[in-house]
Amino acid sequence: MIGKYGGRQGVSIGEGCERLGVIEHEIGHALGLWHEQSRPDAGEYIEVEKDFILPSYTSDFQMRSINLIPLKIEGLEKLTYKFFKGTNEINTLGIPYDYGSVMHYGSTAFSADGMSKTLLTRDPNYQYTIGQRERLSFYDIQVINKAYCEDAKCGAVLTLKDEWRTISSPNYEEDGYIENQMCSWILKAPKKQRIEIEFLEEFSFLCATTCVDYVELKLSKDQRNTGPRFCCYHKPEKSLISEGHQVAVIFRSQIGQDIGFKLQARATMKMVELKKQIIKTTTQKPTTIAGHNILSSWGQWSECSRPCGGCGIKSRVRICETAECE
Ligand SMILES: [Zn+2]
Repeated sequence: MIGKYGGRQGVSIGEGCERLGVIEHEIGHALGLWHEQSRPDAGEYIEVEKDFILPSYTSDFQMRSINLIPLKIEGLEKLTYKFFKGTNEINTLGIPYDYGSVMHYGSTAFSADGMSKTLLTRDPNYQYTIGQRERLSFYDIQVINKAYCEDAKCGAVLTLKDEWRTISSPNYEEDGYIENQMCSWILKAPKKQRIEIEFLEEFSFLCATTCVDYVELKLSKDQRNTGPRFCCYHKPEKSLISEGHQVAVIFRSQIGQDIGFKLQARATMKMVELKKQIIKTTTQKPTTIAGHNILSSWGQWSECSRPCGGCGIKSRVRICETAECE
């Protein structure tokens, strides 16, 4: 980790550098990121033209070691790496080299004459890609997430076949989710197949008339549109079938802490039920009788919303048989 000394840390942004990508680059250092071209595997992607670099900046172009050192094997195009017990300067966290990283220098960075290239990309198509300062790249964001938010441990891209695969919200088996979490899963079935989803076991999110903490299923072919969101104890009882071969599952918690969800999914040839139906909760209005505050006897208790041992909700109903009841 570079630049991270613990505690509060200032970031200096020079005049004329107040651009999002430049600020992200500097904050990147404060969070521990090295320059992309300092990665131990940089030699596979770039060549440093040392002769053109302003002398005091050569260290910015130095490749740093992790516990690996490059080892060139004769006849092999690619460099391979050998285990080396040494300084632990860079950990790439398994993220690949990214020419589009906001941490990458541009072609003529710190060039002595301002024109000569100090960095050459091994794939010449990337020569004018390096050095962008528009915004963080996908992998810039992912490496920070991996370094600091790994404990969220949620979300994935899953390729489904005939066997059921299960996914659940964070900490489902233990204390459940906490506020302000978000995870997304992309479920993919082979083309021309669809995806079947079934909710399992306990299901509980903060209860609200519009879900605030929820699980959303994008079941339609149009993955841009909002899918149905489920919260409270409103667990879909029947299995759900997607319209296309892809489903996005989004878990979101804003303010609550609760159990969350667990579901299983698999690829299927079953068809979507196209029939649309409106579920009405009908309360039969009884014919009222004269008098005040006359209530019917209580109806049957509903089933508990949670299985045995859990703290759930049971309800029963009685009817006001007069015009009004208090
Ligand atoms: Zn820098």
